[in-house]
Amino acid sequence: MKRRDFFGAAALMGAALSTGKFASAQTTEETDKRDIARLRLCSQLGGIPGGTLPEKLEKLKKWGGEAFEVGAEVTDDAKCKEYNKMKADFDLEVSAICWGSCGGQLVSTDPAVQAAGMDEFKRVLEGAGKVGARGVIHVPTFNGQSELSNQELLERCRDYLPKLGEFAVAHNTTIILEPLCRYETYFIKQVAYGASICRDCGGREAGITVMGDFYHMDSEETSDMGAFISAGDYLNHVHLAGGRAEPMRTLPGQNGMSFVDGFRGLKYIGYTGFCSFECGCEGDREVEMPKSMQFLRDQWDLA
Ligand code: MG
Repeated sequence: MKRRDFFGAAALMGAALSTGKFASAQTTEETDKRDIARLRLCSQLGGIPGGTLPEKLEKLKKWGGEAFEVGAEVTDDAKCKEYNKMKADFDLEVSAICWGSCGGQLVSTDPAVQAAGMDEFKRVLEGAGKVGARGVIHVPTFNGQSELSNQELLERCRDYLPKLGEFAVAHNTTIILEPLCRYETYFIKQVAYGASICRDCGGREAGITVMGDFYHMDSEETSDMGAFISAGDYLNHVHLAGGRAEPMRTLPGQNGMSFVDGFRGLKYIGYTGFCSFECGCEGDREVEMPKSMQFLRDQWDLA
């Protein structure tokens, strides 16, 4: 290295230190948040046995659930009122709104189609705010809904997500990007990739967060623990389901998949968000769901 190059490198190093790139390095003790992590179980309404909403929520509460996950029906004011009454009656929270891609409209190259998708997303975000949900789950595109390349999709996300994120924050909620397995999307497949989009769009303060779904992660992640640690503070929700082994995508504990590695990651980042059932069931849900909840608590203790 020539003397002049050496001084150039030293100056760069100094600049990096003064901008905090290296100064922000913390000790393991500071980044390990296992003491504050909690397993907070939740379920989508469809997965809870019972004929009526109160029946379902009474069971969920009795089995130790802390929240329920709902759908796009929160655009209906009457539904929001009903959910708010249920929250109060059963001392439960609404965790998230399971929404989706709106047919891929948000990434459409047709401005009118994209604008319609933005309007619909805003209506759902408003509803999410009304029921106090932590966020609205969003998939930019499923397979077959877009012709764009990964890079083009990324550019579109960086354009529309900050605008909708600002709207979400104004309504006390967030957008939650859901990575899916390759069989369902060619775009955001890994939790860390979703987290990098959160970072690019301003993160949690800008209303953009990510989630992990154990079913999808079983196909895409080399380490569930690594995936959750990569997401860190951007992680805002988790879906619970067994992986691809038969019976596929069933209640945790029914197909032999271990949750210990993933739970270790959740513990390490001090996760206090919800873990929500989104899965099928072998047998009677009335019997199997509380069994699965106990299985998860045991896995958490092992992690
Ligand atoms: Mg899911």
